[in-house]
Amino acid sequence: MVEGMTRRTAVTVGAAGTLAAAAGASAATAVSPHLFTIPQMTVPVVGNSAVFPVRRIYCIGRNYAAHAREMGSDPNREAPFFFQKPADAVVVVQPGSTGAIDYPTLTKNFHYEIELVAFLKGGGRNIPVEKALDLVVGYSVGIDMTRRDLQEKMKEERKPWEIGKGFDQSAPMGPITPADKVGHLAKGRIALSVNGAVKQNSDLSNMIWSVAEQIAQLSRANELFAGDIIFSGTPENVGPVVSGDTMVGMIAGLPDLTVKVGGPTPV
Ligand code: MN
Repeated sequence: MVEGMTRRTAVTVGAAGTLAAAAGASAATAVSPHLFTIPQMTVPVVGNSAVFPVRRIYCIGRNYAAHAREMGSDPNREAPFFFQKPADAVVVVQPGSTGAIDYPTLTKNFHYEIELVAFLKGGGRNIPVEKALDLVVGYSVGIDMTRRDLQEKMKEERKPWEIGKGFDQSAPMGPITPADKVGHLAKGRIALSVNGAVKQNSDLSNMIWSVAEQIAQLSRANELFAGDIIFSGTPENVGPVVSGDTMVGMIAGLPDLTVKVGGPTPV
């Protein structure tokens, strides 16, 4: 099309027209500057046809005292710390349906961690705790899936956790329930069952650092933006799943999240 324009313009208006057409060709090229396109991960919003585009996934570590103890640390002495998962680790599961994730490669100890997930519609730096929840557009139920054996091995070797946390399909979650419908969730049951048996069972009020405090702390390390997601930590009694297991995550006020593990379990 650009070549055709150039030829036609050159024929009708001569050399000056050719120059103009060349400039036009550059402008046309600039419309699509990417070598290729990649999908934007999105999360649906309950009651809204617009979807939430995912920028970054932040996760707080050891944010319930009993879970910190089961991971071998002292919950009273630890400042909050965070890690990330890639945005495309999200697997969206609609309420009433069963999502599917594959048993991942490289692990023989694939763990669930039920977590309240907060979604940011705005950001900033050095956000005060009392302003932080103004940035939260809503919440969902998520599971911070973890290759526990790899995480532990990397901890022992003083290497990054990433291979244990930031892998494909490691962030299944339900749709966003808007905060203007459910409020800002600070208390209520958080639980996870496997094949109908309750494994994790706690209350959001047992968080060491609230969602507002997490946002304030994170915004001192990185500027936060609309599209950022925060996994707010898991209570105690994390544990393994194998292929064929079905997990149901539950948080009071939000739709349940049902996820089945597929693919072969390594022996
Ligand atoms: Mn976690």
